[in-house]
Amino acid sequence: MKNLKLAPQDQKKLDQLFVNLKIESSHFIGYPCNLGFDYTELHPFLNLGINNVGDPFVSSNYHVNSHVLEREVVEYFAQLTHAKDNYWGYVTNGGTEGNMYGLYLARELHPQGVVYYSQDTHYSIAKILRILRMKNIMIRSQDNGEIDYEDLEETIRIKRHVTPIIVANIGTTMKGAIDNVPKIQGILKKLAMPTQYIHCDAALSGMILPFVEDAPAFGFDSGTDSIAISGHKFIGSPIPCGIAIAKKENVDRIARAIEYVGSLDTTLTGSRNGITPIFLWYALKTRGPEHFKLMVQQCFDIADYAISELKRIGQTAWRNPFSTTVVFDYPSIDIINKWQLASYQDIAHLIVMPHVTKEWVNRFIADLAQEGNQP
Ligand SMILES: *Cc1c(COP(=O)(O)O)cnc(C)c1O
Repeated sequence: MKNLKLAPQDQKKLDQLFVNLKIESSHFIGYPCNLGFDYTELHPFLNLGINNVGDPFVSSNYHVNSHVLEREVVEYFAQLTHAKDNYWGYVTNGGTEGNMYGLYLARELHPQGVVYYSQDTHYSIAKILRILRMKNIMIRSQDNGEIDYEDLEETIRIKRHVTPIIVANIGTTMKGAIDNVPKIQGILKKLAMPTQYIHCDAALSGMILPFVEDAPAFGFDSGTDSIAISGHKFIGSPIPCGIAIAKKENVDRIARAIEYVGSLDTTLTGSRNGITPIFLWYALKTRGPEHFKLMVQQCFDIADYAISELKRIGQTAWRNPFSTTVVFDYPSIDIINKWQLASYQDIAHLIVMPHVTKEWVNRFIADLAQEGNQP
């Protein structure tokens, strides 16, 4: 197998792709993915056929897996989200799978339930609701992207006979807004709902809020039932990944024993990535909580710097508290393309991830200012 070689034209194609990816990675400021990682030490693992099929907490007949580290990763996030001992989870392919897992659980527990989610909710939720055929109602958002609590309360009040299943955004996609879970709990309490389910889509901010003082609570201690967090976003990974975590007693109710792999089929997919749990484990083990606190604070500082620089060149720019997403006026299509910005109607955003330094912001502002000077 050692002597397999690419034809020269194919080698050229591959080399060109690498060069292009390096260039594109040097102006990447619009999506919440941290490019500042180094997993070189783990490269030998890429030559193994690792597959984490099955439940990471149950042994299986497929032994070439990284369950031992996957469990530690899940445990880390369980602590981060105050799950105590009553949790179960696994490393997913990203935020979407974690959201799907949470809503799947909710549907199995409350087949007649209605899902409430705001206008600013990530597009994965609408897709998942279609796939799972769950009844749902979209709730208005406030201007800052946070769910409109009055609209939520009034809408649930009309449907008091059905279980509310609420998707709380812990960092919305466009504006980085946080739906306040304790406030939502207050509404459910006020309406005296006998049953409820809360899923937190914490794709990005699930790795930010735990490292900030006085951040809004979204963990299991605030009555959340399941949480999805991305691994390739704030932490960073060359392969998309994430964490799904839920209350164990709920998961037990839907687990099905599958004899073929000699494990429990608790996860959404069969074969599962065995490399990403190793990446995440490595990233978490090489950085203590103090390190993450510093990373988060640095992102806030750079975000504030970006806001003041944007304002300096005449832009409207702002961010939500606890968010590193900077919202500003829709720029030209050239800027959108070059800097890979996400845009929505008349706004665009940049997201300060740990790889975004002042120098990055300066380069971006220079491009933007130059445009403004053109006739
Ligand atoms: C990125 C994101 C998702 C989806 O995550 P993927 O890893 O792309 O599947 C879901 N919700 C929010 C708020 C996100 O930012």
